[in-house]
Amino acid sequence: MESPDRAMAIELRGERVLLDPQRALIWPARRTVLIADPHFGKDDVFRRAGIALPPGTANADLTRLTALIEAHACERLLVLGDFLHGATQTGDGFLPEFAAWRRAHTDLAVEVIAGNHDRRERSANWTGSVEWHTKPVVDRPFVFSHEPLPDARGYVIAGHLHPVYHLSRIRRRLRVPVFWQRADLLVMPSFGSFTGGAPIRPGPADRVFAVGPERVIALGGSAPRPIR
Ligand code: MN
Repeated sequence: MESPDRAMAIELRGERVLLDPQRALIWPARRTVLIADPHFGKDDVFRRAGIALPPGTANADLTRLTALIEAHACERLLVLGDFLHGATQTGDGFLPEFAAWRRAHTDLAVEVIAGNHDRRERSANWTGSVEWHTKPVVDRPFVFSHEPLPDARGYVIAGHLHPVYHLSRIRRRLRVPVFWQRADLLVMPSFGSFTGGAPIRPGPADRVFAVGPERVIALGGSAPRPIR
């Protein structure tokens, strides 16, 4: 079940979606690309605290988004929370970078479901550029949310955890971002290039999809085989 660009096609509640190695999920029927936890502006937040980070992470992530949107002819971008690492301030490098990116994609609908890192941002800062949601968005058969909590209204697609999986118990540095599919929700890996990860313990009925550099690989349930 691999599409030509090496995304992994799976079915969720009868809908075909693609798990993309760029740590994004594509919903082809709605021409929608979903990402979680980009933490844009993290370098700005650290710079304010006097800690220099390598510049250009936001631009690199926006370039990856452009490639996804073009490859899948997407009309809508949905960000499942932690769009920002912290409340923006005048002078942040990310603001002009995003504004230029947005001007290059005027036909794209952009929606953000605010996550815990977005709570202190004034949503008015994004009027006319981003549709800002403070609650989960129901779009049957899915509920799009930041926090991965079951929801009676549909199958939840969420972020927040930044899930990673250790491929080897011995060499613990061998860890990869994963999509974590459970009975009533799927947790996306974090999209941002400069975000940490939290190891998961999948249950026996769960499916785990590891994100490699160019492809997504199904690891299976509670006892995934290591990748060679
Ligand atoms: Mn996050």
